[in-house]
Amino acid sequence: MNFDAMMPRDPFADDPNDPASFLTEDEPFEPISDQERIHVQQDLKSVIEFKKILKPRGIEGIFFMCEDCEEFHYYDWDIMAANMRATLAGELSPVHEPSAQPNVEAYVPWDYCLGYLDGLEAR
Ligand SMILES: [Zn+2]
Repeated sequence: MNFDAMMPRDPFADDPNDPASFLTEDEPFEPISDQERIHVQQDLKSVIEFKKILKPRGIEGIFFMCEDCEEFHYYDWDIMAANMRATLAGELSPVHEPSAQPNVEAYVPWDYCLGYLDGLEAR
């Protein structure tokens, strides 16, 4: 289980004091920090926006490379949102339970969605 793996952005990516680096798999789940909470809330807002814009265009959700499993995981918009809400509620999100038999053509990387939205706003 790697909770951080599903987060599109790591707020501690460039921070040598990354609190996650002190956690091992056997330690209990720690509540997220205020900083992480703000990030997750922003990401949740983004997911809702992405779904609104991209689902009518046939995009079902996000995929990303999972470093634990060394394979791609595919998540529907609603599953992403549910995972983020679980995180905000202080629950562990089921990051290794992706959509069953996804149509891989219908999933895009997080950065693609951000870029797509930026493109729309630039017009
Ligand atoms: Zn995984």
